[in-house]
Amino acid sequence: MSLSQFKLLRPRTIDEAVGFLAKYAGDAAAGDGQRIRIIAGGTDLIPSMRQKLFEPEYVLDIRHIVGLNGIREQGSGVEIGALTPLSRIEHSELLRRRYPVLSEAASAVASPVIRNMGTIGGNICLDTRCLWYNQSLAWRKACGFCIKKDGNLCHVAPGGTKCWAAFSGDTPPALLCLSAEIEVAGPSGSRRVALRDFYTGEGDNYRKLQANEVLTRIFLPETSADYGGVYRKLRIRGSIDYPLAGVAVAIKRANGHVADARVALTAVNPAPALVKGASEMMAGNPLTETLAEAVGDLAARTAKPLTTSALTPEYRREMIRVFTKRALLATER
Ligand SMILES: Cc1cc2nc3c(=O)[nH]c(=O)nc-3n(C[C@H](O)[C@H](O)[C@H](O)COP(=O)(O)OP(=O)(O)OC[C@H]3O[C@@H](n4cnc5c(N)ncnc54)[C@H](O)[C@@H]3O)c2cc1C
Ligand code: SF4
Repeated sequence: MSLSQFKLLRPRTIDEAVGFLAKYAGDAAAGDGQRIRIIAGGTDLIPSMRQKLFEPEYVLDIRHIVGLNGIREQGSGVEIGALTPLSRIEHSELLRRRYPVLSEAASAVASPVIRNMGTIGGNICLDTRCLWYNQSLAWRKACGFCIKKDGNLCHVAPGGTKCWAAFSGDTPPALLCLSAEIEVAGPSGSRRVALRDFYTGEGDNYRKLQANEVLTRIFLPETSADYGGVYRKLRIRGSIDYPLAGVAVAIKRANGHVADARVALTAVNPAPALVKGASEMMAGNPLTETLAEAVGDLAARTAKPLTTSALTPEYRREMIRVFTKRALLATER
């Protein structure tokens, strides 16, 4: 599958990048600009362009923007540049010590080579996935296309008007557990938003990022530091696959009881999602097997997997239940 022709733009500053986006994005209100696409590590964008899921006229290569690659202590929290490779997040001593759920989730992405190329910003902005979408043009055409790209029907939920493609990034559930915020730069400056407000829950227009905006930084607050953290992931090939179900947990204990805890899921809904009610269920209680099982049941009810992925929805939901329980019982702090 060959790449279509495109013009490569290489900004050196955020302002220059935003200028290019403003110039070439076309109608910013359309959201998912097709005329220009941002490329960071390219580990997801390039395969998608080969499949003709995107055929941009311009590709904005942001890798040379100064100041967006690195992990820094900022005040009492941590700031991570959007261009920081996942391997750096995986191996950062600071993150392993203070935000272990994030380094564990980063270490679960794909393979070492892809983690060297792939960035945290790209992982947060990752396109949603579906068996009917991540296919070649000829394959999709033979099936009559679908709502997410070029068509008007959904093969997964026929008769509906919504796309259910699954968000399948590994680090966003960990970031949700850490109450992370992101910084987005656009023509009118930078805005900082909670990551939990970044995703729409719609498979075809899955993030609140205008075509003239770029994700620049991620912030981890001090209040989420030093939580025990575990990430568990279901995939077919242990060495390199996207998650088909994933659970992140972050938990703080005091005097043998849970002081605070959060659970978040990925790959089973069109957006990564915090499990509502999990924190309240655990707070103030000792983390027993019965409690972990009850939280697992709650997580399984939050998961709404459909036939977007290679394994059955029933199995993926069941694994959310099992992984949640195991992840909670595996936390140490
Ligand atoms: C074989 C294979 C296995 C994979 N397995 C996994 C896996 O297990 N788990 C997983 O999470 N991912 C997986 N991936 C996907 C991908 O490698 C990672 O998600 C990676 O983090 C993407 O980062 P990137 O920098 O390469 O993104 P890119 O490919 O450069 O971009 C991805 C998307 O994000 C947008 N984007 C990137 N950076 C920004 C930014 N700063 N601002 C705004 N938009 C931006 C791009 O326009 C594009 O839409 C896999 C990929 C492959 C090829
Ligand atoms: S969920 Fe439906 S509309 Fe969305 S990509 Fe899959 S088949 Fe297409």
